[in-house]
Amino acid sequence: MIVIMKPGASEQDVCHVVELVKDYGLKEHVIVGTNRTVIACLGDKRNVDKGAIENAAGVERIVPILAPYKIASREVKKEYTQIKIGDKGFPLGGKKVGVIAGPCSVENETQLLQTADKVAAAGCIGLRAGAFKPRTSPYSFQGLGVEGLKILGKAKEQTGLAVITEVVAVEHIEIVAEYVDILQIGARNMQHYPLLEALGKIKKPVLLKRGMSAQLDEFLLAAEYIINAGNSQVILCERGIRTFEEYVRNTLALAMVPELKEKTHLPVVVDPSHGTGHAHLVPAMCRAAVAAGADGLLIECHPDPEHALSDGAQSITPQALAELMQQIKAIAKAIGRDA
Ligand code: PEP
Ligand code: MN
Repeated sequence: MIVIMKPGASEQDVCHVVELVKDYGLKEHVIVGTNRTVIACLGDKRNVDKGAIENAAGVERIVPILAPYKIASREVKKEYTQIKIGDKGFPLGGKKVGVIAGPCSVENETQLLQTADKVAAAGCIGLRAGAFKPRTSPYSFQGLGVEGLKILGKAKEQTGLAVITEVVAVEHIEIVAEYVDILQIGARNMQHYPLLEALGKIKKPVLLKRGMSAQLDEFLLAAEYIINAGNSQVILCERGIRTFEEYVRNTLALAMVPELKEKTHLPVVVDPSHGTGHAHLVPAMCRAAVAAGADGLLIECHPDPEHALSDGAQSITPQALAELMQQIKAIAKAIGRDA
């Protein structure tokens, strides 16, 4: 349930309600809005005396949360959440569409630093590359691990871009968080609950990819795991789902974007690279994603896609990225946003 405070409720009123809620064995999550504060109350409500809470000073009313996910829901928070990205604090989820690009994997220092410069020059806000790679085959390139993180650290220093990389295991979280600004949870780990909970304990944004067979509720419940564990900086990423169709690697579900923007206040980004598997389809899907209301894009970009150690077929070149950025800016402008 949500306790909605009156617009003029004092901090003392809010604290009192929080104490009451805790007395009933519920967990509280206070959301301070521009107009009023609301308190989401989570847990078993059978023994709660709603009347007592409703009578407390500063309380306007109590309403149930109907969605299975709670704190991630727009029933609790109507205003969209903006998450500050990197040292420059780019507000993802605001008016400006943020583009994050980079190679699927960190392959070596030259490859990453050169790509990073091009990504920055194209006007992107972030650089993404994998150091720990969750590959389908154990014989495929598995990433450079900690060496890759160090190279990502250098790229961040060199360009000032926000840096993002995937974390595949709970025991890697500490070291990954030391080098990067945003930690990615890959599609294969969307329901790895101990990993989600462990990422709920860190103070950095988490980019959560939709599982390849996950439904909207499951996706948002995975986000809820992270928020419930203490980290509300969750960015959602639509990256396509597995269907019977074979002309694409995954079927990019762009209708998910406006539906998520209806259901949740969290920022939504789209990954058209994994969402199609083919570089020639990426620009059109980027344009469509922005037109559909995505807050950002995650694009695989490689200086020499033919020789990439992973996902070359879906990687666009830095030159294609620069051209695409101009189109993205034009589409963003047409719908009252910037890029
Ligand atoms: C990736 O981002 O390189 C990746 C492995 O993506 P996904 O988890 O969406 O398959
Ligand atoms: Mn990839």
